[in-house]
Amino acid sequence: MQKIERDVVIVGAGPAGLTAALELKKAGKSVAILEARDRVGGRTWTDQIGGATIEIGGQWISPDQTGLYSLINELEIETYPRYKEGASVFIDHDGKRTVYTGEDFPVGEATVGEINKLIALMDQLAAEVNPDTPWTHPDAKELDTISFHHWLESKTTDAVAVECVGLFIAGGMLTKPAKTFSALQALLMAASAGSFSNLVDEDFILDRRISTTMQGVSLAVAERVGTENIYLENPMLRLEWSKDGVVAHGKDVSVSAKRVILAIPPNLYSRPTFEPPLPRWQQITHQHQSMGLVIKVHAVYATPFWREKGLSGTGFSPSSLVQEVYDNTFLNDPRGTLVGFISDEKADQMWALGEDERKAAILESMAGFLGEETLSPEVFYLSDFGAEEWTRGAYATSYDLGGLHRFGPTQNDAVGPIYFASSDLAGEGYQHVDGAVRMGRRTAARIVAEFEG
Ligand code: FAD
Repeated sequence: MQKIERDVVIVGAGPAGLTAALELKKAGKSVAILEARDRVGGRTWTDQIGGATIEIGGQWISPDQTGLYSLINELEIETYPRYKEGASVFIDHDGKRTVYTGEDFPVGEATVGEINKLIALMDQLAAEVNPDTPWTHPDAKELDTISFHHWLESKTTDAVAVECVGLFIAGGMLTKPAKTFSALQALLMAASAGSFSNLVDEDFILDRRISTTMQGVSLAVAERVGTENIYLENPMLRLEWSKDGVVAHGKDVSVSAKRVILAIPPNLYSRPTFEPPLPRWQQITHQHQSMGLVIKVHAVYATPFWREKGLSGTGFSPSSLVQEVYDNTFLNDPRGTLVGFISDEKADQMWALGEDERKAAILESMAGFLGEETLSPEVFYLSDFGAEEWTRGAYATSYDLGGLHRFGPTQNDAVGPIYFASSDLAGEGYQHVDGAVRMGRRTAARIVAEFEG
């Protein structure tokens, strides 16, 4: 067992841990990172699959994500726009396919009116919610103890409007059924992106991609931190801690340090052994944040055939197996790539099938949007973060019903020398790489201020 000493040990080389390490290093502090996987980037991960560049994890950046923008500017990394030209496709509850342009789903005038009413209401409430402290909203308890689905139902009798608006947060973001998380949790998601209107506008929230891929951002930060300071394949298994400091025991390196940053998703806080155990409150709190589940589908074709039909590749269907589809062609790639998403209970159903049956069901659903050419991709790949030991779901964690106002107020408190940093604890950029970067920077600044204070 190698033994080393640093000012700060960081657990997790995802965007939050790496950004924290970079800031601490800039402030003259010594750091070591223990990372369980054999790579950096965490939930951002690029691989070459069948000769195609596939972003298996996080990839898009939106204009409000100024934390991530400032990091990539510092690293001199460029972005490029997602392909958005042409019409979109909507498939309704009865399987009727409509090609449309503009912002409104083609669901009939009355339902469009109800959807826009709900969006306006969400915008108004989201503007009242401080994403860093959603529990301070005067109606926080009330909003946190009703499910988003039931809250929407209390505002309209139009079931299609409830399903469409629910999709933006449930299937689209938290990747949990809308009956399992609160209206306050949905408002946090909206407030974290600036507004609900931002969140429901795919051209805003899925605006651009990173030329080096999103994992490339982590790789570039790792270079600056110094790869010799990053111990891959070294999960932290045990943490000894006292008011004087910590010893973080990885698989084959132990790091003594004055402070530790747990830059891992909250659902994994219970994984290492803490000596002494964490206080009662943390032991309870961390059981109430769980991962959503989504399958990200990648299908690569010889050409982006949908473009020739005047389609952007964008498709929505709250009731279909694949609820969202987009053109995801990688920078300068002459081939065409589609990405689709299958969320929560529909993802459970897919993993219960055999491989061939699963592939056939998914491609058939995607073909419903863009035609039968969709059935024969050159490359077909499913991102399965639910099977990843060091993540266990996707995209991120959120609180169960009532958990946000009850446990949120202390989620960012340090416990002695132990700090927590994750995109899943962020206000702005919550559940996104932007939130991870903000949390990394904020946590590093708190520790530097303590050292200097
Ligand atoms: P992570 O990225 O999860 O990093 C945590 C690290 O800790 C991991 O490397 C893990 O291996 C390590 N670890 C865990 N336990 C231990 C341990 N005991 N010891 C040592 N190391 C440990 N965000 C966007 O902004 N845009 C998107 O388009 C987008 N799409 C997404 C699509 C998918 C499929 C997924 C899964 C996520 C997506 N996200 C997206 C979310 C984004 O990837 C995450 O918010 C971000 O990566 C979180 O960063 P983090 O550093 O907080 O955590």
